[in-house]
Amino acid sequence: MINNKFFTVYIGLGSNKKNPNEQIKNAIKELEKKVKIIKQSSIYETEPVGKNSTKNFFNMVIKAKTNLSPYSLLDNLLKIEATFGRNRSKEQHWGDRVLDLDILSYNDIIMNDYRLTLPHKEMFNRIFVLEPFLEVEPHAKILNKDISKRLTILKRVKEYYIEKV
Ligand code: ATP
Ligand code: CA
Ligand code: CA
Repeated sequence: MINNKFFTVYIGLGSNKKNPNEQIKNAIKELEKKVKIIKQSSIYETEPVGKNSTKNFFNMVIKAKTNLSPYSLLDNLLKIEATFGRNRSKEQHWGDRVLDLDILSYNDIIMNDYRLTLPHKEMFNRIFVLEPFLEVEPHAKILNKDISKRLTILKRVKEYYIEKV
């Protein structure tokens, strides 16, 4: 029987501090207590963006079902980050962090307020999000954008700039 109260969410996990692989695996165990995980991608390792970090980032995307509201899901993710020792007041933008949990999309909800933007405002510009996203949802379309095509474009742009430098 279909339970209409359950919504499909995609959550991005990231870490680049204190054994990031383990942090992500442990975060999955915590997430399992809050949402029903349907699929999880491999862990992708990428070089940091910007100047505020020198350590490689580890990223993963999961697909899950939840009956939590978007705000309640966000609160739960922020709580998990805090129990892993994340302290935003001591961080630089895009700096090192022990755990980052982002809601990439929540069903087909589109919203933007001071606490929450859905789908995640930067996901379409990030190879490290779209690559694992496609692994869990190979034919994904978000906001009518074909994620696979978007990823191809981002990779081409990256190659172009690498060739130029
Ligand atoms: P980015 O958002 O560019 O990935 P970040 O993840 O480092 O950067 P954080 O410091 O983790 O940013 O989050 C700042 C705030 O972003 C959170 O407190 C939360 O209120 C807000 N936020 C807005 N939309 C989302 C979303 N879709 N998922 C998670 N947090 C969000
Ligand atoms: Ca993030
Ligand atoms: Ca975040």
